[in-house]
Amino acid sequence: VSDSSIARVVRPDILALKAYPVVPAAPGMVKIDLMENPYRLPPELREALGQALAEVAINRYPVPSFSELTAELRAVLGIDPALGILLGNGSDDLLAMLTLLVARPEACVLALEPSFPMYRMNALLHGMRYVGVPLEADFTLDLDRLLAAIREHQPALVWLAYPNNPTGNLFPRAAMEAAIAAAPGLVVVDEAYFPFSGGATLLDAVPGCPQLVLVRTLSKMGLAGVRLGFAVAAPALIGELNKVRQPFNVNVLTEAAVRFILRHFAVLTAQTAALVANRPVLERGLDALPQVTRFPSAANFVTIRVPDAPRTYAALRERGILVRNFHGGHPLLDHCLRVTVGTAEEIAQLLAALPDCL
Ligand SMILES: *Cc1c(COP(=O)(O)O)cnc(C)c1O
Repeated sequence: VSDSSIARVVRPDILALKAYPVVPAAPGMVKIDLMENPYRLPPELREALGQALAEVAINRYPVPSFSELTAELRAVLGIDPALGILLGNGSDDLLAMLTLLVARPEACVLALEPSFPMYRMNALLHGMRYVGVPLEADFTLDLDRLLAAIREHQPALVWLAYPNNPTGNLFPRAAMEAAIAAAPGLVVVDEAYFPFSGGATLLDAVPGCPQLVLVRTLSKMGLAGVRLGFAVAAPALIGELNKVRQPFNVNVLTEAAVRFILRHFAVLTAQTAALVANRPVLERGLDALPQVTRFPSAANFVTIRVPDAPRTYAALRERGILVRNFHGGHPLLDHCLRVTVGTAEEIAQLLAALPDCL
């Protein structure tokens, strides 16, 4: 099949897209590009996890109510039993479902920019109108601008990442509430970085807001490869969302692995606490470099601006350190790099290499 015949059958807007970039890391690299938890499970738990997975009937389809897993998640993570909950194959799965739930050609999706690229991508894939509302140059939120955009565009769906990615900051709680109150349609608060936010959450706002959905994930706490996210909202809304779910979206190995981990959740919370404690070490090291501008973070990453981001990215990579380069994307991210908070050793390696890479 030639390229031109593909161009005749595939949607032109998809032909124009690029696939989500994931850079493979060579073994031994300091991999601080994707907000992964750098710590592994202790050897005895890995062994026990292997045994638990060996018992799983992989010949059977999952039972997608996942009642035990859901009950255990609620208990461990403190989700009110009066709220509805729906599991996804990572929160990315839920982001797509939530878009599909409101997708009509004339409807609008609104997100702050820069933020998580899948908000816009899902809008495009579902043929919806997309409006990006820029943050300020220092990545703070201009609430008046956001409220004016909501009034003007009457979005069917508003995305708010709390804390925001790739900027790392938390918007003021009062601004979040004002945006939620002003929105005529669905509002999704994406709390992918909740484990690092010092407890900041909009979970307590969900019971009073029938059109508010909160999305969380276990990815950034250490289960990025397992793929489990969940949405919390009023039961009636979760019931509708459940209709657009792929029938067997969460697989049996994920179910078993997460149920196992939830029984040992203190290991992940201790690792998360270590990363939160490492964050100021990274921040102080970055602040000591006069050519680096460092932005505040309530997440497990820190975004910085350097004089020449492509050069710094390439020089770090040459030294075995993989960060994320945002230069060339959104103009507010000119010469910005994003650095995941790693182990103390990884932070030391980055801070030792960085001065020569600027
Ligand atoms: C990482 C991330 C996600 C996706 O996480 P998964 O659960 O791994 O799919 C969603 N939203 C934001 C803001 C993220 O940074």
